[in-house]
Amino acid sequence: MTAVDILQLITHEVQTCTRCALHTGRTRAVPGEGPPTAEVMLIGEGPGYHEDRQGRPFVGPSGQLLDDLLALAGLQRADVFIGNVIKCRPPKNRDPLPDEVATCTQAYLFRQIEALNPKVIVTLGRFSMNLFLPGEKISRIHGQPRIVEGRLIVPMLHPAAALHQPQNRPLLEADFRRLPELLATVEREAPAPAPVTPPNEEPPLEQLSLF
Ligand code: URA
Repeated sequence: MTAVDILQLITHEVQTCTRCALHTGRTRAVPGEGPPTAEVMLIGEGPGYHEDRQGRPFVGPSGQLLDDLLALAGLQRADVFIGNVIKCRPPKNRDPLPDEVATCTQAYLFRQIEALNPKVIVTLGRFSMNLFLPGEKISRIHGQPRIVEGRLIVPMLHPAAALHQPQNRPLLEADFRRLPELLATVEREAPAPAPVTPPNEEPPLEQLSLF
């Protein structure tokens, strides 16, 4: 199967998923979207109200801000793949539970990453960061790129953090402005990405000497 086939298959599986209780409360599941050739993958937390209605990622207020942030990196939504840790909206937008994260990422997100094979993964918020950099604090390491299993992971604050606390916006903007430089460095330096490590295994962590 080609990457396109696998991504389409995952989309279909997500849309009809009944693996956890979240499916009972959803309007639509949100598989994620973007071109199969995307070099940058952004991973948010999970659908909110607007995403649940439309079945698309980041289409509410956080999504409008995300579009502005992408523009600072010279990117448009159509250039990147946007996914989420979990694919169905939790009741009252509560935090995802550990078993929901484990089930959904094993079934879908890690397969999406493997099929897409992006050069850079930008994690948006702590749930997404925790998949790759467990035990870290987003407020401490945002904007600091790390190589995890051969792939560049750039942890960033969630756009909602800037909507709730405007003092976070310049931090997010600065981190997005650095993305093109990081991408260019990866193109020159990084080894071929290795398969993704499941979240319950400790990934070996190296700091890119360049950064
Ligand atoms: N917040 C997220 O984390 N993901 C979305 O898709 C929308 C808002």
